[in-house]
Amino acid sequence: MTVETGSAADPDPATDRDVVVVGGGVAGLSAAVFTARRGLDTLVVDPGGSILRRNAHLENFPGFPLGVNARRLLDLLGEQAETAGADRLTARATRVAVVEPGDADAPADGARFVVESDGDDRIRTRYVVAATKNAVGYLERIDGVGILDRGKTYVDTDERGRTGVDGLYAAGRLAEKPHQAAVCAGHGAEVGVTILEDDDAPFYHDWVAPDGYFSDRDRPIPPGCEEIDEAERREREAASLDAMRGRFAEPHPDDQETHPSLRED
Ligand SMILES: Cc1cc2nc3c(=O)[nH]c(=O)nc-3n(C[C@H](O)[C@H](O)[C@H](O)COP(=O)(O)OP(=O)(O)OC[C@H]3O[C@@H](n4cnc5c(N)ncnc54)[C@H](O)[C@@H]3O)c2cc1C
Repeated sequence: MTVETGSAADPDPATDRDVVVVGGGVAGLSAAVFTARRGLDTLVVDPGGSILRRNAHLENFPGFPLGVNARRLLDLLGEQAETAGADRLTARATRVAVVEPGDADAPADGARFVVESDGDDRIRTRYVVAATKNAVGYLERIDGVGILDRGKTYVDTDERGRTGVDGLYAAGRLAEKPHQAAVCAGHGAEVGVTILEDDDAPFYHDWVAPDGYFSDRDRPIPPGCEEIDEAERREREAASLDAMRGRFAEPHPDDQETHPSLRED
């Protein structure tokens, strides 16, 4: 998919996004699930290189008592982001540029960044989540982003993943989180929720609650919450059982990946 840039003034649905997540590993995909579920127009840009693809059997990700194939987990997370409404672009981000008001690229809808890719895409967006483990080349020309060199490179953030530039966040290993899939996924989720809180919903909870949980107590349903009745609950459970039976019916078709230095040509 190549996304063309629209005119400067009018938001173009093909190029103007609310959120661009750079990096579709566990952190980036988890962030996208949360922003897309809130209805923010979210695009995940990734060439397909999560380091988790090298794992032999993932035994410490919550919810899988006997472990799970890590490629399967990445597929499921990608599917979850898409079900939530996110789009995915197979490409590598080459540059994130800050849009100054008055720039030719500055649209009327408050976009603050242009994300460029090796596929010649130019995507304007209000928020960027950088979730690229140790890759920072595409951020290097932005004033205000703290790049930390500790043998590998990281991005300096506050406790919620905010960088020194408004609207630009870092998630997962890139934000110096421990090198564990569950921690990085959790941090991606936290960054997604932080964007929603920073955007317009300070008391944001992405919850699905039983019918009446809030409303029968005359409590307002908080932003992000949904109440569902028993029939709807059963329907959703049946759909999830069906989906999981299908996804786990066979071993994953992809070979386990290894360190590039160990690959045979
Ligand atoms: C051999 C091995 C086994 C492991 N086993 C376990 C384990 O058992 N349990 C555990 O908890 N953790 C394990 N890990 C660690 C785990 O894989 C990482 O901690 C986790 O994947 C980090 O998540 P992340 O989203 O920050 O980075 P990643 O999952 O690596 O995702 C980063 C993404 O950024 C993308 N990217 C990079 N540059 C760009 C760019 N310029 N533009 C767009 N996209 C870009 C990459 O393609 C990649 O998909 C293992 C790691 C290895 C190497």
